[in-house]
Amino acid sequence: MINRPLPRREGAQQATYAQSLVPRTPDRSDIQRLKEVDITGSTANVSAMTTKRMKGEGTATGRPKHVFTREELERKLTVLAKRRAPRNLAFGADCYSRAAPPNRSEYVCPVCGEKTLYADSEAWNVEEQLPTARELVAELAENLEIRLDESAYCRHCKPNEKKLDLAIEIRYSDSSQANRISSIDNDDLRLIAEFLAGKNRHDRGMLGETPLNRHKKRLGELLGLKQHG
Ligand SMILES: [Zn+2]
Repeated sequence: MINRPLPRREGAQQATYAQSLVPRTPDRSDIQRLKEVDITGSTANVSAMTTKRMKGEGTATGRPKHVFTREELERKLTVLAKRRAPRNLAFGADCYSRAAPPNRSEYVCPVCGEKTLYADSEAWNVEEQLPTARELVAELAENLEIRLDESAYCRHCKPNEKKLDLAIEIRYSDSSQANRISSIDNDDLRLIAEFLAGKNRHDRGMLGETPLNRHKKRLGELLGLKQHG
């Protein structure tokens, strides 16, 4: 404990100050307070959250994530479909230069650990497209139960696969069956991110912007929702 001298005080006052420095064993009033907190449910919520985090279900940022239900997303899509097109959409750039694509790339499968060698445009796919897709899916996973299936990239896992195909699988609490969509690209993943964020414009980078509700059909397909036009 602390050995610094107590300030000069008189009688009972000094005794109270000294007592306040030693940890107190909880008395009946403390226990009563704890019980009251329990009744309001706030401690229960906190412990549920802590358990989730310990099981790795929380987000990296420590925020509790909100996982959309299919019903919520269907409502959201209906709202989007009725929204007016945004003004001042950005035009695309006329021309742009890109860094030279890599000639070859070695893909390492995260599932089996085997390596597959790719060249030319496929190498570009492995070096540029795939890492972006992984990042986008990781972001989407804050609000969706989503998984990226990149097994087509691995010649060991999928020896007969001809195309570098990416697929996503989304699970909802109302169904045990995952909604699987293959042949997706990063533009699809950006559509989902913009939709979840409540935006009404789709940013296609160098190609400019389009109203997001123009993509409602694709969003419905990607998310496994009721179709809109
Ligand atoms: Zn593999």
